[in-house]
Amino acid sequence: MKKYLIFGIITFVLLSSFPLYTFAIDEGFNEKESLTAALWQQTSSEYRALCYQAFNVARDRINIDLKKEWAKPRAVIIDLDETIIFNAKYNATDVIREQEYPKEFYEWIASGDATPIPGSDEFLQFVNEEGYTIFYVTNRRDECTDITLQQIVDLELPQADREHLLMRGTDHTKQGRRDKVSEDYVVILFIGDNCVDFYGDYYNESIEERKNITDSLQAKWGREFIILPNSMHGSWQKALYHGVVDWLSDEESLRHKASLLEIIE
Ligand SMILES: [Mg+2]
Repeated sequence: MKKYLIFGIITFVLLSSFPLYTFAIDEGFNEKESLTAALWQQTSSEYRALCYQAFNVARDRINIDLKKEWAKPRAVIIDLDETIIFNAKYNATDVIREQEYPKEFYEWIASGDATPIPGSDEFLQFVNEEGYTIFYVTNRRDECTDITLQQIVDLELPQADREHLLMRGTDHTKQGRRDKVSEDYVVILFIGDNCVDFYGDYYNESIEERKNITDSLQAKWGREFIILPNSMHGSWQKALYHGVVDWLSDEESLRHKASLLEIIE
């Protein structure tokens, strides 16, 4: 009897683990682009170095600003995801489980497992001590306000309260919130990982137009605008499909993206 029980357990384990194995190899690994993006952000020293570089430049800019006088109080506007909060574990999980944002994103926020982006926490403590008002401007949806607030409190970020946390509402470009803050403050720095964190017109533009806007703002990068690296997600991905109206299958989508590559003639 005991022999049959052991045989049964082994058979059950083998049968139940086999589909998981084929899922991971045959399906999860098909997401090659996201796989490399998440891997780069989780493993590369280059990613960490770029984050430190961004916050070192930001600190230098604050030190320059401290020598100036302003009629209004000073503020810093900073994004959350991939600017202060490192979500690569969530995106890596999406790759392996072959699921897409926002599936399980709220559970991820509430898990308390996310860590700060390298250099972000020290920078925020510094600007707080220097008397700057910090506005956390995120495009997370309003229904996750409470868990987002709890997350930034748990990460011990300064000025983590409802007054300084500006959720998405209907302002998907963030320009409305930037304008509102600018009524009462002089905004010294805008910090983010997505061009939408700096200038509203980026949101629905084509690839070329986005490049043109970036070029027109050349003097602001590294001075008023501090940008963090993020290859996993952003409005740049939306731009890949600018003008593509029809729904694309996975295969068509890959072909479309390949067609956007500029290659040697
Ligand atoms: Mg972000």
